[in-house]
Amino acid sequence: MARDFQLDTLLIHGGLEPGPAGATTVPIVQSSSFAHETAEDLEDIFRGRKAGHVYTRINNPTTESLERRLALLEGGISAIATSSGMAAITLAVLSIVRCGDEILSSASLFGGTFSLFRDTLSNYGIATRFVDPSDLAAMRAAVTERTRLIFVETMGNPRLDVPDLAALAAIAREAGVPLVVDATVTTPVLGRVKELGADIIVHSTSKYINGTGSAIGGAIIDCGTFDWRRESYPHFEPYVKKFRQFAFSARARKLIHKDLGACPAPMNSYLLSEGIETMALRMERNCANAQRLAEFLAAHPKVAWVNYPGLTSSPWHETAKAQFGGRYGALLTFGLADKAAAFHCIDGLRLAKNLANIGDTKTLVIHPASTICADFGPEEKALMGVSEEMIRVSVGIEAIDDIIEDFAESLNAI
Ligand SMILES: *Cc1c(COP(=O)(O)O)cnc(C)c1O
Repeated sequence: MARDFQLDTLLIHGGLEPGPAGATTVPIVQSSSFAHETAEDLEDIFRGRKAGHVYTRINNPTTESLERRLALLEGGISAIATSSGMAAITLAVLSIVRCGDEILSSASLFGGTFSLFRDTLSNYGIATRFVDPSDLAAMRAAVTERTRLIFVETMGNPRLDVPDLAALAAIAREAGVPLVVDATVTTPVLGRVKELGADIIVHSTSKYINGTGSAIGGAIIDCGTFDWRRESYPHFEPYVKKFRQFAFSARARKLIHKDLGACPAPMNSYLLSEGIETMALRMERNCANAQRLAEFLAAHPKVAWVNYPGLTSSPWHETAKAQFGGRYGALLTFGLADKAAAFHCIDGLRLAKNLANIGDTKTLVIHPASTICADFGPEEKALMGVSEEMIRVSVGIEAIDDIIEDFAESLNAI
């Protein structure tokens, strides 16, 4: 499928090959392994002399179809689908760093990523420096000889800060390290971050890509833009020799992904593939509804504050506008008088679901301080923009009048 189709068309047709008997959806190849005629055939596949399938942990036709589609959407040279967004982040990072190396990361992160960097990877000799990514001077100053990658989210979940990706890409280039971008919250629909300088893109496909909360998944997209022929990446040398521009993809797939085993189930790859097709339409409505709900909440007397990049009150409004074509995502946070009021509000909602997910057709709310960020101390919560009186909303695609009515009724009853 040619790359010059517009995104809305690519979402539907890109990378999708005709299925058996004229099927227009990708077949679910629910098989753990794949038989071959001769011993020589299988040897050739194992040695990479011939294309073919071996074992679903390594590759699977349904998952490969999803990977082709995801690579096309982001303009990457290849993609690896994983069992979850956390698996994608873990594999992307471990494909780059070794013991003794450092990650320079945004301090405004999804809680799971923060915990992975701070609590898990630190036990294996991989340290992370956390810096506010909007403070470019501090980011530049935090680069050391050991820095091997810069990690940032397109919109911090849940702080909803919007770092200047082109400026961070310039810092990464200067430092000779790749920029790894978690684009879960914006998706390729709001903008391809490759064009802003991302070298590696990661997604939790569980969110807007799936879109209906029916499957967990993740993806790593290699933009093919980083040159791994550097002294600081000696472990890439054999991969650069053999795979050239595909060195990262090859090391990630043939070593880290294969060894850690975080592969998706074929059924989930199918569900995620289905989700891609409606993503542009959903995102348009998700974003428009979020803007309307943010404006309603900002004008409500019981609401202390609203944080949404689409409001001019957001310190990141201009950056978001410039980077994402006047669309601001579908996450917002707002504050009430205190934690009790926040709980009261959540309990009073009838339409919005109280649960730990984002990116659904349904409107979702959560009280982050007592749930997804409960394990973090006050200082860390502040870095992530989490406070006791705060509710996070992932705005769905229901009729906006019904969403607003739901919040109005609940707020009025506090
Ligand atoms: C949800 C999320 C993740 C983790 O993805 P899972 O699929 O839940 O493992 C990572 N980054 C961001 C920004 C997320 O919202």
